[in-house]
Amino acid sequence: MYERLLDDHQRIQQILASVLDDSVHFLSTLGSRPAGCVPPATIAETLPQAGIGATATLDLFRSKYADWMSGAAGPHYFGLVTGGATPASIVGDWLTTIYDQNATGSNDSIASQIELVAIGLLRELFGLSEAHAGVFVSGATMANFVGLATGRQWLGHRRGVDIAQSGLSGLPPIRVLCGTPHSSVYKACAMLGIGRDCLERIATLPNREAVDVASLRKRLVELSDSGQPCLVVGNAGTVNSVDYDDLNALADLCHKFEVWLHVDAAFGGFAACVPEKQSLVAGIDRADSITIDAHKWLNVPYDSAMVFTRHLQLQREVFQNSAAYLEADPTPTNFVNLTPENSRRFRALPAWFTLMAYGREGYREVVMRNCKIAEEIGELLQSSDRFQLLAPVRMNGIVFTLAVDTATHSSVQEYLHRVQFGGVLYMTPTEYFAVPAIRLSVTNWRTTQQDVSKVWSGMLSALDSDST
Ligand SMILES: *Cc1c(COP(=O)(O)O)cnc(C)c1O
Repeated sequence: MYERLLDDHQRIQQILASVLDDSVHFLSTLGSRPAGCVPPATIAETLPQAGIGATATLDLFRSKYADWMSGAAGPHYFGLVTGGATPASIVGDWLTTIYDQNATGSNDSIASQIELVAIGLLRELFGLSEAHAGVFVSGATMANFVGLATGRQWLGHRRGVDIAQSGLSGLPPIRVLCGTPHSSVYKACAMLGIGRDCLERIATLPNREAVDVASLRKRLVELSDSGQPCLVVGNAGTVNSVDYDDLNALADLCHKFEVWLHVDAAFGGFAACVPEKQSLVAGIDRADSITIDAHKWLNVPYDSAMVFTRHLQLQREVFQNSAAYLEADPTPTNFVNLTPENSRRFRALPAWFTLMAYGREGYREVVMRNCKIAEEIGELLQSSDRFQLLAPVRMNGIVFTLAVDTATHSSVQEYLHRVQFGGVLYMTPTEYFAVPAIRLSVTNWRTTQQDVSKVWSGMLSALDSDST
């Protein structure tokens, strides 16, 4: 065995102990680290001839790179929709690495049964019925891909075509209808051979990101009259204003017009955890397929998400890995036949850990607290003449901009750069009905009510400072 490898192997306890020290230090200082840092533009390395071993590499990482890691896992990072990692999920993720199972669903370990159990717990958390089977994938983008791929298979069958087997040729172009599609839905259409141009944006309600049901109905009538296949994507939490489509109305329409309904509930699905917010996701169980991320509001480490569907057999037709395609595989745990990946990380373990550790009450508290904090920041923005709130705060997300006369793409970028440089908090830019805007998403279990005043003063001081 290579000398350094053997040496590391023999000193693993000592090596992990120093990783533990670093980890505990990082976690305990996360709240005071810069939320987003400004890293050097480029770095370079060459492959060493002789390795230096794990301890020296750890030292190297500490000195060269550790300071440039963002505080994305911490309480003041509000960019994109970003969760942290609960203590129990860290335990689960650590063990996932240590046990290094290939969660293909083979029966050489109990891993696949734990995945089924974790999916069952999540189904309970989100109030989904047992008709929905679920699997873990790497993120909501992949979950949207799987949901639409399964829907595509469904509509093919209705036209006598097995798309997984014989492809799309012979079918008219498939239209995908959505009010405010997440960018990943375009990506899914590109990967599926449906094409980005076949994603049609349906009108939304006035000043809302929620789809206008009457416009959707009109388009469904047209497509059904002309015999064109389509899929509908409903939103349960848009990324800008966290708006929700009327999922019951969408399910009614899709039932009437015999169209597949996929719901992107990447983070908004967590409304189901809180009685006061549950009505936002009413009807979600009626969807044919559903996307929910785990690395956002479940607060497990990257990368992890779930896709649920009522049509597992169709999902299996698409993702079947063996050549014996026609032999039905009734094994519910044969994940290799259900997901884009063949070899898979054991993503269910961190999810299982955190669900067992904190339960329904724990997640209700996190979601409620995050929403309350968003509401309070929204109120501060509303009452300030330096900012403009662009949509009501429904959940954990805020979309706002600088006071009217100053809001341009460059003024927003410059402001966000000053915010990032200040390090107190981190937010990301967007556009809301053509207005250059800023998003703030409260999705981390660590963020508390005490953070509001700190965050607010960080937002204000970046207005006035001209340090860049
Ligand atoms: C984050 C997000 C996605 C994409 O999720 P990834 O986990 O980054 O792949 C899709 N839809 C919505 C609504 C999201 O918030």
